[in-house]
Amino acid sequence: MIFYKFLAIWLPLFGWLLAACTAGSSTATKAGQLNVVTTVSPITNIVYNIGGERINLSGIVPEGVNSHTFEPAPSDAKKLAQADLIFINGLNLEEPTLRLAEANLKEGAEIILLGEQTISPDEYVYDFSFPKEAGSPNPHLWPNPLYALRYAGLVRDALVRRDPANADYYNANYETLQGRIEALDTAIQQTLATIPEFNRKLLTYHDSWAYFAPRYGMTVIGAIQPSDFAEPSAQEVAALIAQLRSEQVPAIFGSEVFPSPILDQIAKEAGVQHVDTLRDDDLPGQPGDPNHSYIGLMVENVRIMAASLGGNPDLIADFDTANVPGADSAVEQAQ
Ligand SMILES: [Zn+2]
Repeated sequence: MIFYKFLAIWLPLFGWLLAACTAGSSTATKAGQLNVVTTVSPITNIVYNIGGERINLSGIVPEGVNSHTFEPAPSDAKKLAQADLIFINGLNLEEPTLRLAEANLKEGAEIILLGEQTISPDEYVYDFSFPKEAGSPNPHLWPNPLYALRYAGLVRDALVRRDPANADYYNANYETLQGRIEALDTAIQQTLATIPEFNRKLLTYHDSWAYFAPRYGMTVIGAIQPSDFAEPSAQEVAALIAQLRSEQVPAIFGSEVFPSPILDQIAKEAGVQHVDTLRDDDLPGQPGDPNHSYIGLMVENVRIMAASLGGNPDLIADFDTANVPGADSAVEQAQ
């Protein structure tokens, strides 16, 4: 009897608590808003900068995991099945996620492959970790700010088409973001121009600068990570050490996402600095921080490149990295 009384009092409270927790968590979706699903964090952030809190946004590739081999979880299938718009980088970056999205696509929903709509096949770069014979071009378009801006334009077009009631808001956010990305492009240009010309070389672990480097007079002289994302062989390591000695680059760049003990060994033997903090899809800071943004990602990378290659990192250090619609704490983004 007492037990039943207990239940009668507490059950509704538990129910309310459960509802409150669900509503308060980042999985809350606002009725009447578009459900938008994205993959890697730079794309999630670009979509957030256009859609703000007028869309229900969920990014499914956790920051700091290998996006090239990421396998979506069963819970991601549910998110994809509820999505009205799914933005994917494409160029074969997120194949398992794309297949899952296609298999679960809601009627009337759209999958938008940003990369394929940003450059044409004659502009695809095949290089160190993405050789032509393997069939997949280098998919890292977003480190080139002009390509990131094109992504933002495609996002704006899709949001305006699907949700015309908020067109003015999406257009205004795009225009503000456009101004910031153009200023970012100039700041990158100016900062990297302070690096002595002979040092404007990138030897990286992860091969993500193919579309960035040519825009700023930098050369990617190599990428260490093999195309299967394993570690390089002893022969490859020896060749890299010889290359580093002859190119005389002051630093080689590892990746936050791919810590590699072999890089340390290569750097020691070649007598160069090993900088392991570049990142291509792991935004700095935490969700809600002002530097947790696409622009924050690029500022951090360029600051590190300038500091390590003899340039002046201060030129870009104070660049405004904040998100156009304000802090991104309400975005559901896997960490
Ligand atoms: Zn990558």
